[in-house]
Amino acid sequence: NHLQIAIDGPAGAGKSTIARKLAKNLNITYVDTGAMYRALTYKILKDKIEINNIDSIIETAKNTNILLIEDELYLDNQHITDEIRSKEVTHYVSYIAQIPELRKILVELQKKIADNNSVVMDGRDIGTFVLPNANVKIFLTASIEERAYRRYNELLLKDQPVNLQEIKKSIEERDKIDSQRDYAPLVKAEDAIELDTTGLSIDEVIEKIIHIIHR
Ligand code: C5P
Repeated sequence: NHLQIAIDGPAGAGKSTIARKLAKNLNITYVDTGAMYRALTYKILKDKIEINNIDSIIETAKNTNILLIEDELYLDNQHITDEIRSKEVTHYVSYIAQIPELRKILVELQKKIADNNSVVMDGRDIGTFVLPNANVKIFLTASIEERAYRRYNELLLKDQPVNLQEIKKSIEERDKIDSQRDYAPLVKAEDAIELDTTGLSIDEVIEKIIHIIHR
């Protein structure tokens, strides 16, 4: 049977960095579910669909083809990359991710990938909703200061204009919407192991998770 490792947690806790590296170490598939929500958001903004028009958003979700192979994402057969990381997409994604019908479409896709591959999957509802029977569930956290600072450094490296206070606010806002939505909110699964990564290096976090997997 396939191995399933679920990694959830708030924005900027290092989920994707850790999940990607862990998957590589274990030689299994990395699935970035946030990228799927971002891709749909990108399309909805690009097609100028009203953000309050739930029906139209659901219709779009039904008629969208998302193919995710590790870090390569194809939206309706078009390869997209940095577009889904824009400030605008980041701002709107949490609003769109509240819609249950849209989530169901993406969750089905995520489950299908995990049925066919061993995976490290990261997101907000993986341990609770997508892979409730995952072999290992990790809930990654870090202080808000550290999460904002990590994101700040990431953006600096990409030569993007950044403001630490603005980043902190944006992270807090997204976490609030993600954890307060009615359907599949961001919450630690009962059987998940919480790992506070404040002050830890990437390799230290990986080492801890590998330890958890092997025990
Ligand atoms: O992980 P990332 O920051 O790319 O996720 C972007 C947004 O997508 C989150 O803030 C959340 O609103 C949504 N998301 C979600 N469920 C997931 C993954 C992401 O609701 N499993």
